[in-house]
Amino acid sequence: MTVRTRFAPSPTGYLHIGGARTALFCWLHARKHGGTFILRIEDTDIERSTAESVNAILEGMTWLGLEYDEGPFFQTRRFPRYREVMEQMLRDGRAYYCYCSKERLEQLRNEQMARKEKPRYDGRCRAGVPNPPAGVKPVVRFKNPQGGSIVVEDLIRGRVVFQNAELDDLIIARADGTPTYNFTVVVDDMDMKISHVIRGDDHLNNTPRQLNMLQALGVEPPVYAHVPMILGPDGSRLSKRHGAVSVMQYRDEGYLPEALLNYLVRLGWSHGDQEIFSLDEMIELFDVKDVHSSAAAINPDKLLWLNQHYLKTSDPAHIAHHLSYHLGRLGVDPSKGPDLLEVVKVQRERAKTLAEMAQNSVFFYRDPQGYDEKAVAKYLKKEIAPALQAFGERLMQCSAWDPATLHALLEETAKSGGLEFGKLAQAVRIAIAGRAVSPPIDVSLHLVGRERSLRLLHEVLEHPALKPPHHA
Ligand code: GLU
Repeated sequence: MTVRTRFAPSPTGYLHIGGARTALFCWLHARKHGGTFILRIEDTDIERSTAESVNAILEGMTWLGLEYDEGPFFQTRRFPRYREVMEQMLRDGRAYYCYCSKERLEQLRNEQMARKEKPRYDGRCRAGVPNPPAGVKPVVRFKNPQGGSIVVEDLIRGRVVFQNAELDDLIIARADGTPTYNFTVVVDDMDMKISHVIRGDDHLNNTPRQLNMLQALGVEPPVYAHVPMILGPDGSRLSKRHGAVSVMQYRDEGYLPEALLNYLVRLGWSHGDQEIFSLDEMIELFDVKDVHSSAAAINPDKLLWLNQHYLKTSDPAHIAHHLSYHLGRLGVDPSKGPDLLEVVKVQRERAKTLAEMAQNSVFFYRDPQGYDEKAVAKYLKKEIAPALQAFGERLMQCSAWDPATLHALLEETAKSGGLEFGKLAQAVRIAIAGRAVSPPIDVSLHLVGRERSLRLLHEVLEHPALKPPHHA
């Protein structure tokens, strides 16, 4: 069988992590079987669909690296096709016009409710309406089979049986001619020759209706796999109060896409007790059948742990690319300053997120905006001023600017001033980074560069904490 999967988001908000996980599973399934992965935008709910949301979904997919082979297809551009299929179904007697008024349907519903029955259309127009009421625009209903059962052999949930008696004749086109949701999905899955529908299990109840329609259209139905939803750490439905839910928010908080993908694949799927999966390993090992049928809870600590792992181990050029985005958010242009690759190499072990790494790397590109007060109180002592001054002078006389030379000069200065190396290093750190935390001081000076380091050392000497007491 040629494997063809699709991710079919409705563009009514951002790409949330549940959707991203579904997309990942669809993508993995296609990649594993040498198949095709399709992106379909289900935008027929015109009131709720927005262009921003479409962009957010495309941006999220790109950032995650879930490239699609076909699409994006937009359902709103396929209305003539839906109409064509609907008309064919009317001609074949698989669908019919229904003229029942809102009032009648409401009354029917009330009566059924009063009898404690499940509200459903009673099929009044199913056999045809010889004298259609004038001026009434009919809806079109699908002739659902009336007896028997319909079986969904779900790859994740197993066998799920629905009774046709529970399903009524679904509206496939509204009075204004627009197609309804379940119908567009059926036409698209048919036309796009989808072999596997992998989607959220909130759609499981739609599946028997869709299967009946596919059968009526005479096509081989796809195989279904309904993925359970993602819960918050407390087991309740995932929501914003649990932290980030949108993929782009994870990006902005400083996660690498590979960390998020690794995290998502493990939400509801496992392979022994392995935690780290490269994309190639995921493709090799993932099988949609192994996705757990119970809901998975998010675990933010695990994501942070994975992120740190990938910060330490991913290709520095790749990290540099993502770090550059975060520096940009802080108003830093990383092309004006030290090579980002060097920055990544010294910072990758020191941060849990790219946002933190960017924050800690701003000083390589831009002068500190003031000094950290606690660091000043602790390390900028008057007695350190002569050594700072001497260090500046030594630097000026030295033409080399490599970490080893800088280290030796700092050591020499500390020694001849009778100071601990660490104390002098901290004061130099404050001068160039504005605070007492940075990568090793020699490497930091090296990356900040000669000219700016000399100027910043000169400037720190103007700090009141380093000046002799002022006598009026
Ligand atoms: N558009 C639906 C959603 O966003 C998905 C439908 C499907 O995958 O069949 O929930």
